[in-house]
Amino acid sequence: MAADFPSHRLLAWYQKHGRDLPWRQTKDPYAIWVSEIMCQQTRVDTVIGYYQRWMQAFPTLKALAEASEQEVLKCWEGLGYYRRARHLHQSAKWVVEDFDGVFPNDLSSILSLKGIGAYTSAAIGSIAFGIAKGVVDGNVLRVATRYLGIEDDIRKGATIHQIQTWMDSIIDPHRPGDFNQAMMELGATLCSPTKPTCEVCPLSSQCIAYATASTASIPYKSPAKKVPHYPIGVAVIKNDQGDVLIGRRRSDQMLGGLWEFPGGKQEASETAEETVKREILEELGLDIEVMRSMLNVPHAYSHFKVTLHVYECRLVSKAQEAVAHVHEELRWVPPHELDDYPFPKANKTIVEHLQQ
Ligand code: SF4
Repeated sequence: MAADFPSHRLLAWYQKHGRDLPWRQTKDPYAIWVSEIMCQQTRVDTVIGYYQRWMQAFPTLKALAEASEQEVLKCWEGLGYYRRARHLHQSAKWVVEDFDGVFPNDLSSILSLKGIGAYTSAAIGSIAFGIAKGVVDGNVLRVATRYLGIEDDIRKGATIHQIQTWMDSIIDPHRPGDFNQAMMELGATLCSPTKPTCEVCPLSSQCIAYATASTASIPYKSPAKKVPHYPIGVAVIKNDQGDVLIGRRRSDQMLGGLWEFPGGKQEASETAEETVKREILEELGLDIEVMRSMLNVPHAYSHFKVTLHVYECRLVSKAQEAVAHVHEELRWVPPHELDDYPFPKANKTIVEHLQQ
C-alpha cells in the first residue's frame, strides 16, 4: 500500500492549491512552533491575525523568553486555551537556558518541551528540520481512514496508532514537511467532513471510501460524553469612584495568570445572587449588596460549559478591605483601564459591557 501511494500527485496538488498562510513562508522553527500551537483547537482564519501580532510582539524565541507573563497572556487574549501561551513562554525560557537559545533539532528534545506532543513535534521536525515523521491530526485521520477504508473508531488509540504507522511509511523522505502539510491541507479543504470534493482530489483513483461511496460513514467517531454545565455567580463590585474589583488567578489554576471578576459555582440549594454574596465573602472577605443583574454570558470550554450570571454589587460598608484568599492579587481598576489586563473570553464580554 505504501509503495502505491500517489505522493507525487499529492505534492503537485499542494504546490498548486495550498493556501498561502504566513507561517508557510518560513523554516524558522520558532515561528512554526508558534503557528502549530496556535492552530491547535483554533480555526486557521482566526489564527492568522493572532500569529502576525505575536510575531511582531515577540519576533524571536529570545524576545518571548524575556517578555513578562502578562505581556504574553495579553497577546494571546481571546484565543482561548491559555495554557498554550504559558507553555510557549515557559519553553522559550527553557530553550534559552538549556539550549543556548537555539531551538532543538531532534524529535525527542522537541517532544520534551512543554505543551508539545506527538503531532506538534512531528510537524515542527518535518517542516523546520526535514525529519521524516508523519503527522496525525483530525484532518489526517479523516483523509487516511477514507483512503484506506478504515471503519474503526477514530477515538481509539489503536486506530490512531495504525494511521501513525501508515503515515510514517508513506511520508516522502525528500519533502517530509511539504508532505505532512499537503495531507493536512487536503483534509482541511477537499476532504471535508460532510461534503468531500472527491472529483478533484489527487488521491481519488485509489481512495476506498470514494470507490465504495462510503465517505458519509467514514471516519467513524463514537459519541462524545455529555458535557456538564455549571452556572457561575459573578460580582462586578464598584466603589464610590466607579472602579471595579478584579483578581488575578493563581498560576497553578486553569486560566492561570489571567484576570477575572470574582465569583464561583452556584450550589444547587442557592440562587445566583446568594452564590455571589457567599463567594465574595469566602474569596475576598467582603460583605456586599447585590444591586442588579447585568448580563448572562454562556461559554463553552473543552470539557464543560458555564453560564456566568453577572451582578452589579457594592460594599455594604466602605471600611472593608478586600483580602486575596484565592487570587494571587486583587486590584481596583477604572473600567477604561481594564484593557490593560488579560482576561479570559467570557470575562472579556463583561469588560466590553462595562465600557459601553
Ligand atoms: S477521494 Fe474523497 S474521500 Fe478520498 S481522500 Fe480524496 S476527498 Fe477524501
